[in-house]
Amino acid sequence: METILNALNPSQREAVEHIDGPMLILAGAGSGKTKTLTTRLAYLVGEVGIDPANTLTLTFTNKAAAEMRERALKLMPEKVSYPPLLCTFHKFGLLFLKFHIEKLGRSNAFVIIDSDDKKRLLRSIAKELKVDLNISFIASEISKYKNSLLSPEVVLEKAELPDYKQIANIYVKYQENIEENNLVDFDDLLMLTYKILSENDALRKETSQRYQYIMVDEYQDTNELQFQLLELLSSEHNNLCVVGDDDQSIYGWRGANIRNILEFANNFETCKTVKLETNYRSTEPILNAANTLIEHNSTRLGKKLTSHKGAGQEVKLLHSLDESMEAKAIAHEVQKLLDEGVDPNEIAVLYRINALSRSLEEGFTKAGLGFKLIGGMRFYERAEIKDLISYLRVLSNPHDDFSLIRIINKPKRGIGKASIEKLQKAAFDAKISLFEYIKKSVHGEFPAVLSKKITTALEKLVEDITLLQEALENELGNFITLFEERIKLKDHYAGMVDGFDRILNIDEFYGYFRDAVLKNPDLTLDEFLNDISLQSDQDQVEEDTITIMSIHAAKGLEFEHLFVIGLEEEFFPLLGEGSNMEEERRLGYVAITRAKSDLTLCYVDSRFYKGRRKMIDKSRFLGEAGLIQDTSLKITKSSAFKKGDLVKHKIFGIGRVQAANKSGKEYKLLINFGGNKKEILSSFVQSI
Ligand code: ATP
Ligand code: MG
Repeated sequence: METILNALNPSQREAVEHIDGPMLILAGAGSGKTKTLTTRLAYLVGEVGIDPANTLTLTFTNKAAAEMRERALKLMPEKVSYPPLLCTFHKFGLLFLKFHIEKLGRSNAFVIIDSDDKKRLLRSIAKELKVDLNISFIASEISKYKNSLLSPEVVLEKAELPDYKQIANIYVKYQENIEENNLVDFDDLLMLTYKILSENDALRKETSQRYQYIMVDEYQDTNELQFQLLELLSSEHNNLCVVGDDDQSIYGWRGANIRNILEFANNFETCKTVKLETNYRSTEPILNAANTLIEHNSTRLGKKLTSHKGAGQEVKLLHSLDESMEAKAIAHEVQKLLDEGVDPNEIAVLYRINALSRSLEEGFTKAGLGFKLIGGMRFYERAEIKDLISYLRVLSNPHDDFSLIRIINKPKRGIGKASIEKLQKAAFDAKISLFEYIKKSVHGEFPAVLSKKITTALEKLVEDITLLQEALENELGNFITLFEERIKLKDHYAGMVDGFDRILNIDEFYGYFRDAVLKNPDLTLDEFLNDISLQSDQDQVEEDTITIMSIHAAKGLEFEHLFVIGLEEEFFPLLGEGSNMEEERRLGYVAITRAKSDLTLCYVDSRFYKGRRKMIDKSRFLGEAGLIQDTSLKITKSSAFKKGDLVKHKIFGIGRVQAANKSGKEYKLLINFGGNKKEILSSFVQSI
């Protein structure tokens, strides 16, 4: 056990050895906050003798939770009696609701809906109520209400402006609808948990006593509801240890409340505060850039942070003409690293907004570079995967009209939109679910509203669903084989332009399902569905390739070689409505501090965005980070040149490179401009 403490510095050790009472570990990026937390968990269990079942460790993403679990378990004695509960807030809510949702008069066979399902539902309610407002806006308003514990009735009563009245009406219907169908959205996972705990004092007490030691990573990103939930959970003992960095609070737009961390010591009177001031992750130039940048923010606690690693290579700037040149240049640099034998898991490219990932994807694909894209179009958001999930949902709950409508004509059964609407109306009039109506009508209990052909198709659908539901009673592995046989979803996509990719995805899903069954033979379909609904945008199949992801998704992670793209005014910082410069700067700080030794910040002169090409200026953050006083020295031109490249020169026009020789930071190029050969330095031409 001494050995796990030996790996820590004195402040980290002090935090680990503090056992009872509230504690705040406040420190900058890469100072070992997460390491301290995992070591503390191992210390509590392995040294102090706390039963792992009495601990609860929370964080924000599944990936972070998985990494922490792995680290903590490595530090623990071989045979811990019970793995400690270390998960995301949402997963905790799910587990809690499984046991206690009955207290709200609901069954625990609920289905979690993700943000996409939520929008679909809202869209249909908005249509019904003839409301013409942006669906994402409605969704985020409702999310805010839930996170502020405001019920639909209260919101309806308080709404004054016409738009907000409409949103309130939608909220009322939405909540009715999800309760009727026993659905639970992401916000409910926490909101209902809070509600149950706050309304049942005995249960609150019992739960708090059960989780004697609670720890939270990335505490700066908790919102008001999470704070209140933590207060209830720790109410019996106050053994709440939170770690965070006010400079890394990047979820303000989603309701995170930075005051939670700023006021923690006031809220918990006997709080012990520990500061960590050594950064073990990054070399000096990287850390200096991050520190210099974040000093431009005014609302911060202010921290000292010195680099343990010391000197290292300068932060590089990569200037390109446009996004495709940028992608090409990065692909080239990445290839060089891979050729040198760098582990692909140590290379990442980060972007501020999703739209910028597309050009990278294209460039990397062209260059034949493998990559995993995290936080873009997620696996589970792809149409074919949604179809599969909808099928499984219908099997789990045939009264889920939404899912049924999605798959009723996939693969094609000749049931068009008009027929579906007829069926929906008939089911509505009969006051039963769509599936029930279809089932009864194919058995002749209702007069036929559709043609003979369609009725036969529906008969077959009912037969398939019933058969598959029966198969669910037995082994899930066999079930999925039968599912593949009966529901020929691959045939549906086979003829499409991108059919090949979609079929691969479908196979991957089946494989994933089988794997989940292998790992947990007792798995039920409901559990499987709820687990995949909880997959956050960091979760993807782990492969040994480089990573492209959003800065938000990269929180807490670290990479030896890092590229950040889009350092341009408007993209990063994001400007315009809803943008908050201090939060943008914190995002800049998070991005830069993901790098260990090699950081390249990229910017372009123009980008194609929202249908047109725009000239853009480089980001103010480059200046604020102290990186562009001396542009000529630090800017490396975007590409390496080689024989055969086409280049453009201001005066000579377009030519082909015949020879390229490295000369300092530049290339000396021999270029053939339509028979006119010239020797020119690479900074005077641009690749095309
Ligand atoms: P972030 O703010 O980005 O979440 P963090 O403060 O949680 O960062 P960690 O991820 O825990 O930092 O640690 C950063 C790196 O420093 C890790 O590679 C970790 O192993 C290393 N590290 C932390 N503490 C020490 C130490 N005392 N000695 C050596 N290495 C350390
Ligand atoms: Mg961390």
